[in-house]
Amino acid sequence: MKLHEYQAKDVFRKFGIPVPKGRVATSVDEAVRASQDLAGPSWVVKAQVHAGGRGKGGGVRVVKSLDELKQATSDILGRPLVTKQTGPEGKKVHQVLIEEGVNIDREFYLAVVIDRSKARPVVIFSQAGGMEIEEVAARSPELVLKQFIDPKVGWMPFQAKNLVYTLDPLPGAETLKELMSLMGALCRLFMAQDCSLAEINPLVITKEGKALAIDGKINIDDNGLVRQKEMKALDDHREKDPLDAKAEQYNINYIRLNGNIGAMVNGAGLAMATMDVIKLAGAEPANFLDVGGGASEEMVKKGFEIILEDKNVKAILINIFGGILRCDVLARGVLAAAQKIDIKVPIIIRLEGTNVQEGRAILQNSNLKFMVAKDMAEAAAMVTEQVKRSAQSV
Ligand code: ADP
Ligand code: MG
Repeated sequence: MKLHEYQAKDVFRKFGIPVPKGRVATSVDEAVRASQDLAGPSWVVKAQVHAGGRGKGGGVRVVKSLDELKQATSDILGRPLVTKQTGPEGKKVHQVLIEEGVNIDREFYLAVVIDRSKARPVVIFSQAGGMEIEEVAARSPELVLKQFIDPKVGWMPFQAKNLVYTLDPLPGAETLKELMSLMGALCRLFMAQDCSLAEINPLVITKEGKALAIDGKINIDDNGLVRQKEMKALDDHREKDPLDAKAEQYNINYIRLNGNIGAMVNGAGLAMATMDVIKLAGAEPANFLDVGGGASEEMVKKGFEIILEDKNVKAILINIFGGILRCDVLARGVLAAAQKIDIKVPIIIRLEGTNVQEGRAILQNSNLKFMVAKDMAEAAAMVTEQVKRSAQSV
């Protein structure tokens, strides 16, 4: 789960990480009022969307007067912002952050992430901040420094020293202290809030010699959300694809893809295999959808709803392994769910597992026109054939 910059900065404040003073606004009037609470000019108008690279995309504007502030706010608000991370359609901006302009002297990069190969958090620091860290890592990897956090002892002050004493030129003693304390705070935050990412880019030193987080990105590990109620409350559903939001609400693992075969499967492994056989048969899956091991009638119905909301879907492949759940029970579930929803596309079903014969018979003898396949390869071939036919009939 991602936080907006202004939310991340609220969390930063709580953990003692200094940030510029700022206010959120959803209209030009609000932006003007926000600026009255802040020192200025200058101010900075910043689009709040779940994507980086806003500066280059025109989503971060430094303004030197109230007129410029109004203009920048009205330019940014309510429109899609296109950055390197949003895709060509962009992301609609619902709110802006109005911030005090900072006299930036130097820009650094600081982040905490999980290093999977080392199975521990790692602090990444670079004095080539402000720009994309991936680029720095590719061009001058020696500028990207790392310190691993031992989960048993946590972040140690000497590690902060290892990082800041590489700075060239070396900042003054007070500034160094601020930088090191800020690093410790970011590590505490990362652990306490179950983060998968906590990033400050740029972390700056101002002309006055203060360390300050100018940008903030926090991602919370979804598996930590059950105990991170305060973070969960910050979730902005407007940032998500509506189908993703619905799937999340139903507890269904769903990822939308570009093809036209809707797939409903129980178990993530089987769902991946199903996508593979669909591709092998020469077609493209419209989604990854795992209704979970149980695959109850209710879950199947919700799965249908989500798949059918995707207008690209021309046929549905249901691939279920009846393990704990018996195939006959499942077949009745699929039948009941399909009867409740008006489904206009062909449905191909492949069942395997306990009581599979009874299950197949229930589906074949129903008044709904299910096509029952004997195995995965046949199911993929059948569904591909259906999609080709529907393309010809258009
Ligand atoms: P993004 O990473 O999405 O482009 P940032 O918040 O990093 O957005 O802003 C981009 C650049 O804009 C920063 O590198 C910094 O130079 C400038 N900037 C952002 N906020 C301020 C501020 N409050 N005062 C001065 N400059 C700022
Ligand atoms: Mg940034």
